[in-house]
Amino acid sequence: MDWKKWAKDFGNSMIGKPDPDRNMPDVAVRPVSVITADLVKIQEDHWWKYAFSREPLNEKFDDANRRNLMQQAIACGRKYADECIQKYGTSDAKELAKAVGLNVDYPEQPQNGRRVLFAEYRDPNAVHIYEDGVRRGKAMLEKEDVRKSLGDIDLENILLSHELFHWIEKENENTIWSRTYELELWKVGPVKNHTHIACLSEIAAMSFAKKLNQLPYSAYVLDAFLDYGYSPKAASALYEEMMADDNRSPSRTAVKAPAEETEEEDKNVRS
Ligand SMILES: [Zn+2]
Repeated sequence: MDWKKWAKDFGNSMIGKPDPDRNMPDVAVRPVSVITADLVKIQEDHWWKYAFSREPLNEKFDDANRRNLMQQAIACGRKYADECIQKYGTSDAKELAKAVGLNVDYPEQPQNGRRVLFAEYRDPNAVHIYEDGVRRGKAMLEKEDVRKSLGDIDLENILLSHELFHWIEKENENTIWSRTYELELWKVGPVKNHTHIACLSEIAAMSFAKKLNQLPYSAYVLDAFLDYGYSPKAASALYEEMMADDNRSPSRTAVKAPAEETEEEDKNVRS
């Protein structure tokens, strides 16, 4: 998967010559606990605007379509989660991965790295979970006020669940809704051009991960949370966008980033 196109974009800006004006909006850095406390309040099916904003074909839809497709994608993810639990008798992503023969490894960072990426699925049956990002997330979960919103979560299992869904999509490519739903781009007489909608796969994978891990909030929350481990500022910008996409006012509480976080961020920009 691409855990998120935005993250890649942000990650790319870290290569070599970052343009300080690009992807570094003047945004107030919030404490991570404020970000998580606010984002967990957004209902699962309210993330449609954010989810579609990462979709290349976004402008082909109106809001009614987007809402409706989001509902169907969520239902698709849930259905396969239920089926997995039923079939294998566990909701533990690591056990499920083992049961279906998925090779999971835990490298520190992506090989051709220099971008923010937390996990990815590679055809035909490999998943990489990137430990550097996971470790940063775990460190933030040590904070009690963060755990209060996110709960006692297993980040590796959540990331793996998302990737496991992409494997399931590959295995069921002719029948699974997230892959078979297509948009008719044009039709001239009997000739039609259809295309797959990438963000529906992502929504379904998030819903699958939510269901398997029994998260009471959308797994999209972790987009901002995990990014915070690399850049509190970039995560705060993402948080503002997520809040605005659900017509919510972002909390104004800002912090000066503690020295070590600022240093961390700078180090990444240089690397
Ligand atoms: Zn994905």
